[in-house]
Amino acid sequence: ADVARLVASRVLDVPDFPKPGIVFKDLMPLFADGPVFRQVIDGIVAHHGRGSFDAVVGIEARGFVVAAAIAYATGVGVVPVRKAGKLPRAAYSASYALEYGEATLEVHQDAFTAGHRVLVVDDVLATGGTAAATLDLVERAGGTVAGFTVLLELAALGGRRRLAPRPVHALLTV
Ligand code: 5GP
Repeated sequence: ADVARLVASRVLDVPDFPKPGIVFKDLMPLFADGPVFRQVIDGIVAHHGRGSFDAVVGIEARGFVVAAAIAYATGVGVVPVRKAGKLPRAAYSASYALEYGEATLEVHQDAFTAGHRVLVVDDVLATGGTAAATLDLVERAGGTVAGFTVLLELAALGGRRRLAPRPVHALLTV
C-alpha cells in the first residue's frame, strides 16, 4: 500500500495524448525521483523474491528503464523486447491488434537458455495486447514466465482478464 501511494504521487494525467480523448498516464516523474524510483524497484523485487528469476525482460521503451534497474539490483541480465525491425539478429515476432492497425514486437531467438525463469516488466498495463505478445515471445524463445509486473494497471481496459490465468502484479491499480 505504501508503494502504491508512492506510485500514485508520481503519475501525471496528460489529457489528449497521444490522441484526442485519451488520458495518458505519464510516469516520467516517478523515474526522475531517485528515492521513489528505488523504493518502487525494491518493491517489485520484494514481491517476486530475489532468486525467483534468471532474467528480466523489459518492453520497449519505458519497460527498459524498469527492467535494467531490477536486473542491476538482483544481479541478473536484461533481455529487451523491441518494436519490429530494431533487433540485429534472428528474432521471433508477435503481432497484435491496435485500435487502428497492428503492432509487432520481437525478441532474439537465442535470448534465453531453455528453462530460464523470466520476469517481464512494463510501466503500464492497459488492454494487455503488448503484454500478451511479450509473454508469447518469451515462451517461444524457450523462457519460462516467472512473473509479470507493471507499475500501473488501468483496470477498465481489461488487461488482467486478457492475460488470465497468468498472474499480473501491479504496484498500483486505478
Ligand atoms: P496495452 O497493450 O496494454 O493496451 O498498452 C500497454 C503498452 O502501451 C505499454 O507498453 C505501455 O507503455 C503503453 N501505454 C498504454 N497506455 C499508456 C499510458 O496511459 N501511459 C503510459 N506510460 N504507457 C501507456
